[in-house]
Amino acid sequence: MAVDKNRIYLFDTTLRDGEQSPGISLSTREKLEIADQLAKLGIDVIEAGFPITSPGDFEAVSTIAKKVREPIIAALARVVDADIDRAAEAVKKAERPRIHTFVMSSDTQIKYQLRKTREEVLEMAVNAVKRAKSYVNDVEFSPMDASRADFDFLCKLIDVTIESGATVINVPDTVGYATPDEFGRLIAELIKAVPAMSEVIVSVHCHNDLGMSTANALAAIMNGAVQVEGTINGIGERAGNTALEEIAMIIDTRRQSLGKYTNIKTEEIAKTSRLVSSLTGYQVQFNKAIVGKNAFAHSSGIHQDGVLKDRSTFEIINPKRVGINESLLVLGKTSGRHAFRKHLESLGYQLSDDELEKAFERFKDLADKKAEITDIDIEAILADEVRTASDVYTLEYISVCSGTDTTPTATVRLRKNGEAIEKTSIGDGQVDAACKAIKRATGVKGELISYNVNSITEGLDAQGDVTIQLKINGKPVLGRGVSTDIIEASAKAYLNAINKALSS
Ligand SMILES: [Zn+2]
Repeated sequence: MAVDKNRIYLFDTTLRDGEQSPGISLSTREKLEIADQLAKLGIDVIEAGFPITSPGDFEAVSTIAKKVREPIIAALARVVDADIDRAAEAVKKAERPRIHTFVMSSDTQIKYQLRKTREEVLEMAVNAVKRAKSYVNDVEFSPMDASRADFDFLCKLIDVTIESGATVINVPDTVGYATPDEFGRLIAELIKAVPAMSEVIVSVHCHNDLGMSTANALAAIMNGAVQVEGTINGIGERAGNTALEEIAMIIDTRRQSLGKYTNIKTEEIAKTSRLVSSLTGYQVQFNKAIVGKNAFAHSSGIHQDGVLKDRSTFEIINPKRVGINESLLVLGKTSGRHAFRKHLESLGYQLSDDELEKAFERFKDLADKKAEITDIDIEAILADEVRTASDVYTLEYISVCSGTDTTPTATVRLRKNGEAIEKTSIGDGQVDAACKAIKRATGVKGELISYNVNSITEGLDAQGDVTIQLKINGKPVLGRGVSTDIIEASAKAYLNAINKALSS
């Protein structure tokens, strides 16, 4: 196979490595929503999950394989027969299925975690790749912890797996230990030492423990890698993975000097980032490159003055290029159902009549409280609908009394399978009272780990976006809620976390 060295393939693992972040647990519907958006973004490969790990993961991968067209759909598997069989079953209906299998390759991990010898590892890898190849043509192999593995052993492992049919070799810096210089050199030396690597796609998977995941991936690209694995917003195990939006924009912004290109529709970046943040509950840090709230905000007088005179003075990326439009005002109080549907279609949303009706009701409700409704508000409403689609409990009513001289008291009415449950509680403040009332109504005890409020757009009438992290039965769970009223948003976020814990 001839590989175009200048075409860089982006492999998204938001739904697998990203979902391994503490507190994230996405439903199949949420995963499908993200996968659909990744396809719109132009992602080449979607790693939809690790099917052997749970029935939920299997279901999510097979649903995405069945419904999402264009990108390759990959499933992860250890070098174990049962894993490979389960992964194959999950991606069976995909237009372009891939099985991604991995084994530990550093002596530390082989010896202390896997408790095997190098010879046994070689044999397991060969068997796994052959078995995967009996199901699909496209097989990716990853020697885990490659950046700390013995070089000669790594070459051997790569060579035998290519000979067994691997079409993609992924070199991971699993623990985020490499520096760009070293990692670039490792890729160059591997390609030189293993001639068969020029026949396959060379991929990298970097972690951000030392803040170098993007730099390491870029160094690898400049040394012959053509596939970069990563996630949206850089979420993932520990400090996270390479942020794919960063790689896409580096290649786009520095096209002249790098001479590379991708399939990414950069205008979809901001929307994808907001969707992932909204459904995972992981807010994006304000100063995050490309997708942070402040990434295009110029606050110093000299910078502002420069940008007003000519954007290129202090702005290397036009915000429009990543899909941030300056004027977003779209609909108001008087907009009807038809205009609403048309507008959703123009944003790329295809809703069923039922879903449209629900979203329209919320839009009308919001229009009563907020003067200007933007695309971002609408996205937030739709994401909230997806998030709460499979909830056990729904919040029907909330009333809170508070004042400088009164004890805060909240009453909530929840609904579960048609049955209404109403409870009242006092608390230290309105949010506390509301959460305690929900705790009583559901009987689910959660320990509060963190509580965060943000506004979705500017202005005092903006929708509040609350993220709550609870520990339920020893496991962290994130909940998120959106409303123009902070107390209601908090109650929804709290209930969302409980719902997630109950369904996982
Ligand atoms: Zn990883």
